[in-house]
Amino acid sequence: MMERRSFLQLAGATSGGLILPGGLTAVANAAEAGRESPGRLASTRDDVPRTGFEQRRGDGWTLLDEELEFLSSVAALSDRVDVDVVGESVQGRPLHLVRIGVPQPTTTRNRRRSAALWIGAQHGNEPAGREAMLIALRDLAFTDNAMLVQQMRAQQMLVIPTANPDGRAANDRENSNAVDLNRDYFSLTQPETRAIQAVALDWDPDVVVDHHEYRNWGGPVETDVRYLWPRNLNTDPAVRRLARSLCEDYIARGARREGWTADEYWRHSVGPHGVYFMNPAGATGNTGAMGLRHSLGVTFESVRDGNLEDYAGEDMTSPANKRDRVARHVQAVEDTLRFLRDCGRQALRTSTEAALLAARDGADRSRPTYWGGADNDPPADDEIDDPPPCHYELTRQQADQLSTVLALHGIRVQRRESKFEVPMGQATRPAIPLLLDERSDDRLGNARPVYGCE
Ligand SMILES: [Zn+2]
Repeated sequence: MMERRSFLQLAGATSGGLILPGGLTAVANAAEAGRESPGRLASTRDDVPRTGFEQRRGDGWTLLDEELEFLSSVAALSDRVDVDVVGESVQGRPLHLVRIGVPQPTTTRNRRRSAALWIGAQHGNEPAGREAMLIALRDLAFTDNAMLVQQMRAQQMLVIPTANPDGRAANDRENSNAVDLNRDYFSLTQPETRAIQAVALDWDPDVVVDHHEYRNWGGPVETDVRYLWPRNLNTDPAVRRLARSLCEDYIARGARREGWTADEYWRHSVGPHGVYFMNPAGATGNTGAMGLRHSLGVTFESVRDGNLEDYAGEDMTSPANKRDRVARHVQAVEDTLRFLRDCGRQALRTSTEAALLAARDGADRSRPTYWGGADNDPPADDEIDDPPPCHYELTRQQADQLSTVLALHGIRVQRRESKFEVPMGQATRPAIPLLLDERSDDRLGNARPVYGCE
């Protein structure tokens, strides 16, 4: 039996890591130390698998073949990790789902335990989160830390390190159909988003953290890390509040403790053509869509590149910079694990109750539909549908056209005589009008809202 210590212990860090003494946290410190002492990350053990990125000390991201070999090695050496292929990219590359648990990962969701899903590299040219996830899952696989072992016994952890392998191979944002996957969670037109959505449907995770990187355009406000929770008003308020707490009380606080600046994602994004505002209520991204299905969705971002001079005069292409970026994502994983230890049961309860409430409110029409607004932006009067319809009616053609996508969203369609009805009294209620009503900017079809209920 190999000795279960992370190589990161030997990286020279002194701070008490959560994963190990000097475990994941050590990446942050070692990344920092690496600037003065570039040999530091090299003094690692040989008896746990290391990513390509670690072996090269940040001088080049982990290749897809290396990821495959790495995941196989970790799964072979640790009972705590299993790897499934849950889909294929457009070009036929495998999509891996890594399941983590003690004594071994389970194959199905246990509704008595909270479950979390981490997603990396939806945008293929934003690789730092993926590296952090590979490091984190390996450290979890081999840690002796009693607190983490207990956490892996009590909670279910899932990782999709590379959601867009074609994009990663080409270093492109989009997949090889030139589709931005993180705008495809309503339409689900791509094999990658369908596979991820199917994982969400099977596992119904309480927490979903989606790791990205953003371009710094050299605006007046520069931020090391940014975060976003589901702000769409159709998302259950308790889900929104708890996701916000994960962002502000855990992820942002953890980043600031490391000396990094942290802010909400949609603010202060200044580009060459003026100020960019993320659509804060955007529902077609992973975080928005997960929020509508009652998961605590979070987008986490590190600064990637952009205006090279303006980011503290730093060379954004150096290995030290890459290690810094990975360290920020590692820190976010640690902070999310900490949140799960403190609030995992609350997340499970909040997400479970939100699904029940959505079905109930949908059936008794007690909650409006919002076509606009956000949690910090009151909707206009004509953006509120109150009371909402009791169901949406589809023609046969619409029902045929949408059947696969609605099924992937977990939305039930029932046949009544020659009509097809989507009742609002179901757990997926918040997404239904946004997908089906002509008043929704993100609609996939124009179903008929029926207000006269029997
Ligand atoms: Zn991104």
